[in-house]
Amino acid sequence: MGSGARLRALLSLAAIFWAAAQPQAAPLAPSPLDLMCADAARQALAPPSRAGAHSTPSPEVQIAVIIDDLGYSLARGKSAIGLPGAVTLAVLPHSPHGHALAESAHRQGKEVMLHTPMSNVGGRPLDEGGLTNAMDRSTFIAVLRSNLAAVPHVRGVNNHMGSLLTQNRRAMQWLMGELQGRSLYFVDSRTSARSVAANVAREQQIPTASRDIFLDNDRDCVKIGRQFAALLRQARRTGSGVAIGHPYPETLRFLAAALPRLESMQIRLVSMSALLPATEQTPEVPVDEKDYFGGLQPGRAIANRSASTGHLPSAGR
Ligand SMILES: [Zn+2]
Repeated sequence: MGSGARLRALLSLAAIFWAAAQPQAAPLAPSPLDLMCADAARQALAPPSRAGAHSTPSPEVQIAVIIDDLGYSLARGKSAIGLPGAVTLAVLPHSPHGHALAESAHRQGKEVMLHTPMSNVGGRPLDEGGLTNAMDRSTFIAVLRSNLAAVPHVRGVNNHMGSLLTQNRRAMQWLMGELQGRSLYFVDSRTSARSVAANVAREQQIPTASRDIFLDNDRDCVKIGRQFAALLRQARRTGSGVAIGHPYPETLRFLAAALPRLESMQIRLVSMSALLPATEQTPEVPVDEKDYFGGLQPGRAIANRSASTGHLPSAGR
């Protein structure tokens, strides 16, 4: 009797010490890296010059930031979910923590995407749920459906790797056909300049956009800052921009410092779906704009504002 109670007490004590020893997801402890990334954020988001401040106010500029590759690290996933504002989170299917992170993201009001692995030109091994050129239609659809079922609250899909498969028109038609039936959007991560994914999505009337900027090909806060500044320049020029980053400590620290500064620069961080033209609802295009665009293409006015995201027929070069 006595020894059983002692054992239970010892076990619960051990559990407390074990929990205390685990890495904390948030908040990130202040460190030299924090300071460096905060400084990079200050530089990347320097306020407009005084000369620019007198120009006429520009229409609303919007950006979306997708954090890819969530699911393998619980702590980093939680940090990504904890970023301020409407960051969009792309979760790998069948990953150890993907399901829990998607649930947590949704609870905290963040948009969830499926980050579906696809075959690449380098022949790098694929994560579970990988879609490949070798699959016949029924296998392809079965794998895609199991990926979609593995991640709850999915609003859209983007490709993990996929430099080979996104060049395959037939496979992209199978993919978009499935997304169409589920009213999901597609974001082309553009891992290949020869990707036809966004074009096929447009042909099949799937709300779509293409990644404009990868934030962290170099895991260095100063370089991430340069990429972020390039995103903002492009968004100011065209009305919007789409960035993809990864749950690296450098990226998370940079974004934690940078995102709260956007508002003072009249730039709005929105979830990915908010950047996309609605293709299925009745368009709410004012009459004068309808006339301007010939009244032919629902959602075209929105698409035009977001030209950078590849909605225009001329985009996707
Ligand atoms: Zn990825």
